[in-house]
Amino acid sequence: MNIAKAFRGHIFDFSDKAHPHNLNQEYRYFEDGLLVVENGMVKHSGEFNKTKQLLNADVKIEDHSGCYILPGFVDAHVHSVQTQAIASYGKELLDWLDNYIFPNERHFENPEFADRHIDFFTRQLLKNGTTTAMVYSSVHDASVNALFRAAEKYNMRMITGNTWMDRNAPDYLLKSPEESYNASKTLIEKWHNKARLHFALTPRYAITSSPESLKVVSTLLKEYDDDGLYLQTHISENKKEVELVNHSYPGNHHYLDVYDSYGLLTPRTLLGHGIYLSEDELKRISQTGSSIVHCPSSNLFLGSGLLNLQNIIENDIHLAIGSDVAGGTSFSMLRNLHDAYTISALNGIPMNPLLAIYLITLGGARALDLDDRIGNFDVGKEADFVVIDTSKNELLSYRLENAHSIEEILFAIVMLGDEKVIKSTCLMGESIWRGENGLSR
Ligand SMILES: [Zn+2]
Repeated sequence: MNIAKAFRGHIFDFSDKAHPHNLNQEYRYFEDGLLVVENGMVKHSGEFNKTKQLLNADVKIEDHSGCYILPGFVDAHVHSVQTQAIASYGKELLDWLDNYIFPNERHFENPEFADRHIDFFTRQLLKNGTTTAMVYSSVHDASVNALFRAAEKYNMRMITGNTWMDRNAPDYLLKSPEESYNASKTLIEKWHNKARLHFALTPRYAITSSPESLKVVSTLLKEYDDDGLYLQTHISENKKEVELVNHSYPGNHHYLDVYDSYGLLTPRTLLGHGIYLSEDELKRISQTGSSIVHCPSSNLFLGSGLLNLQNIIENDIHLAIGSDVAGGTSFSMLRNLHDAYTISALNGIPMNPLLAIYLITLGGARALDLDDRIGNFDVGKEADFVVIDTSKNELLSYRLENAHSIEEILFAIVMLGDEKVIKSTCLMGESIWRGENGLSR
């Protein structure tokens, strides 16, 4: 049975030809637009009057006139097991991990605790318009199972895996490489490529992974060579961290080389942060097709540093944005873009608003190697989208009375918007988050 639905509003997305250098030619904006969805996939997107002609008479049109309909947001780096440690005061990355994060992650060994807290986390994503996320779970399989179950319930595209740590963390969070291997393998068999779910091998970073552990990660990655496993890890977030990695891996040329020497850099590898990468490292990332995830809110909150966004783009590296909660202080990708803008301004090259929206939609999808399925409103893509109601924010609404182009409008939404302007979050054409009414299931 064909189930068609249509959504009217200001529709904005980027074409498949879009690239950070040509965004002003490759965006599509229909001031009075219609998005038609059939069986969860995009059937048409275009100007209202023309597209309406293509509809059968019985198709119901959901009217969001005055609101902006954008592809669903992609959060490419977030920790599901740190939500309750958000807004924890003080010091830099390494102390903050020891004082707040590790003790908090310990609770996820309890499956009941995991279910309750992961459900809250998933709702936070949906409430903020995030329809796809790449997530760090804890070392416990309960946290991974809880997240995959929640994503399956909402039919949400989700990537996660159990974190690997075998040193430099409290004993209660350490697992031997063999234990982590077995846990990951069981989870891969259970969840990878089922429904809209994917597994990511997740060695936390070089400090908490011994050479032996990275070798075992590499073995598992090769075992599933044809199955499109993801890999996520942190790199060059903080100066002390970089020093410690150089010290503990003296045989490697640089931080990236630690991961590279174990064959961990693939087009499905997502490297979080990358603030202090050298030109050599950037060139190598570009060659491997791996991606960098910029985590602006986290970088400001932990005082980690200011990523040079332009340098990443000039090296032709896929780039996405991550909220990195709890290092980041907001699940809102709009708030994160606000911080990305601030960082870019401090670096002297203010980020273009089109680039901002690209990075949390099609650009994010590309970094996750999912742009054949999500990221814009091309026919046949999965209909994940957000409806933004700017009238929910009085100041934003007032500002927009004086906006004269779509770039100006988007910039104001980025700078002033947050979860309050998300009227609806739709997964495969179904409204899962409905603003004030909350979740539909
Ligand atoms: Zn992180």
